[in-house]
Amino acid sequence: MSKDPNLPMFSKVALIGLGLIGSSLSHAMRRKGLAGTISGSARSEQTLKRAAELGLADDLTGDAGKAVKDADLVFLNVPVGAMGAVARSIAPQLKKGAIVTDVGSVKAAVIRDVAPHIPDGVHFIPGHPVAGTEQSGPDAGFADLFENRWCILTPLEGADKEAVKKLEAFWKAVGSNVDFMDPEHHDLVLGITSHLPHLIAYNIVTTAADLEEVLGKEIIKYSAGGFRDFTRLAASDPTMWRDVFLNNREAVLELLGRFSEDLSALQRAIRWGDGEKLFDLFSRSRKVRREIIDAGQDTDAPNFGRK
Ligand code: NAP
Repeated sequence: MSKDPNLPMFSKVALIGLGLIGSSLSHAMRRKGLAGTISGSARSEQTLKRAAELGLADDLTGDAGKAVKDADLVFLNVPVGAMGAVARSIAPQLKKGAIVTDVGSVKAAVIRDVAPHIPDGVHFIPGHPVAGTEQSGPDAGFADLFENRWCILTPLEGADKEAVKKLEAFWKAVGSNVDFMDPEHHDLVLGITSHLPHLIAYNIVTTAADLEEVLGKEIIKYSAGGFRDFTRLAASDPTMWRDVFLNNREAVLELLGRFSEDLSALQRAIRWGDGEKLFDLFSRSRKVRREIIDAGQDTDAPNFGRK
């Protein structure tokens, strides 16, 4: 087989953070041959040891600065609240012309915290792959994670067009579709599609856990009635989600206000026996589900009755 002359896309890629997203990036790059070499860095000895066993990187170190040395592409795959400190620690080692990107679930706060540390001549292009699971850590990753999912890039004003194009090509090569947004718009869109659903899930699961004291083990026993679908979201990493809410505060509070009003309207409809209102609302949501399936963002396998 003749070699693809466009590969590897980058001679050296550095992965700072080797959890779900970092390890998935490694698997996806390895499968497609996108990186000449991969260097990796994590905080704990335990993650570094596991990353070595899994072969996530050619070089592993606890020092993020060392990992980014000579890298052409640097991924920050750490919780949103840790991005600024990581950027500060790697800044002196960044190569001129390198691309630094992140995968954080919030964009405006990451730009606020990271951009001031990026030296002249290094291209910072923030990003967010809208792909994930409730698992975390180096064992959680898999090569298909980004396949047919959207990756949103939020380049800063005046960003180098060639660098943006290269990063866009990278995400396409790992199977993603790429969209561009301004960071505030990203934070509002993801606020409603991701952050609020997680908050609601965390809330309902803890309410139920408190009620368990009254109802005993019945909450677990009868969870297939719908509750268990919330528990998947509510099993997501507490550090990651703490940081998301602390760093997308304004958008989430605005959306939560709207959500609470709509919930009160539902409460009123139930109190006053307004069946027509309930039926109309439930019919509208069913259509949304259909649209998600038609857009290829889920399948219509009968999940509710899954074994
Ligand atoms: P994860 O599985 O928990 O991995 C986080 C990684 O960051 C670990 O390697 C951890 O090192 C390192 N880390 C944690 N705190 C750190 C700190 N204070 N300083 C330096 N390194 C630190 O998390 P993930 O799910 O991959 O998420 C990473 C980023 O991707 C987050 O910004 C998140 O918002 C974003 N994201 C997540 C999802 C998702 O569904 N999970 C989807 C899209 C984007 P140790 O293991 O050594 O502690």
